[in-house]
Amino acid sequence: MGTFRISGLVLRSLFKRPSTTKHPKVAREWEDGTRGRVLIDAPSCILCGICAKRCPSDALAVDRAGATWEINRMRCVQCSHCVEVCPKKCLIMDKQYTSSSMSEVIETAEIQKADKEREEKTPE
Ligand code: SF4
Ligand code: SF4
Repeated sequence: MGTFRISGLVLRSLFKRPSTTKHPKVAREWEDGTRGRVLIDAPSCILCGICAKRCPSDALAVDRAGATWEINRMRCVQCSHCVEVCPKKCLIMDKQYTSSSMSEVIETAEIQKADKEREEKTPE
């Protein structure tokens, strides 16, 4: 009985599409709603710091004086809370995942001060 079942499985597998892809030759297609990594549209950021204050895993740092926005990708738990609270909607959850690494992955975005000054002068 067991032999028949196994033979059936083997035969079915021979004619089925493989479950795996030829990565990296074939690019992975991510499902809708995949939360891979946080990306910032730096020119839209006003350095308000709300995202960093609301991040549950302390993965974000906003330095107004230095005009930088920083993310520690090893701390981020992809909860998407920063994306939801950003008043300028300049954060998104990209579908790509951060590459594996043996050390902390900290990415820094430099926010143009000239853009900030222009933004502050522009009434909403
Ligand atoms: S997705 Fe969540 S954990 Fe990651 S940076 Fe945003 S608030 Fe923090
Ligand atoms: S990313 Fe959004 S919430 Fe974070 S500092 Fe910039 S404007 Fe503020």
